[in-house]
Amino acid sequence: MGAYFSLAELTHSQMAVRYGLDNSPPESVLANLDRLMATLDYIRESIGVPIIITSGYRSPRVNRLVGGAQHSAHMDGRAADFIAPRFGSLLRLAQHVRGLSTVRYDQLIYEGDWLHLSIPRAGCEPRQEVLTAVFTDGHAWYSQGLP
Ligand SMILES: [Zn+2]
Repeated sequence: MGAYFSLAELTHSQMAVRYGLDNSPPESVLANLDRLMATLDYIRESIGVPIIITSGYRSPRVNRLVGGAQHSAHMDGRAADFIAPRFGSLLRLAQHVRGLSTVRYDQLIYEGDWLHLSIPRAGCEPRQEVLTAVFTDGHAWYSQGLP
């Protein structure tokens, strides 16, 4: 269990509530959610202001509803979308997280309105990939690095 984050926060989904769907995580993703919480705790500690999780675990059905990627790490309990308005701009937050040498993220994506951070599968090396999402004509494209 995390120092700052709870399983409830990481599994809450407005979409699930709206559609009356069960978004409780299966046993198989709990270990990933624990690792994810530890990573988010570390980031939270380093910035000193609250982090708001806008999306954590997503059941496959919820992931489809929100238009998530087909193999989204959210369905695996390995990804969270978040903001931290009191820290400053989202870009500043992205730069800060990228600079944390001990955070072993797989992907850090600057999505414009939030950051997406994923951790690697258990036992896998993190890719430490930093991307910027660009939305055009309803499609998401990814460019390397931050804007
Ligand atoms: Zn995401």
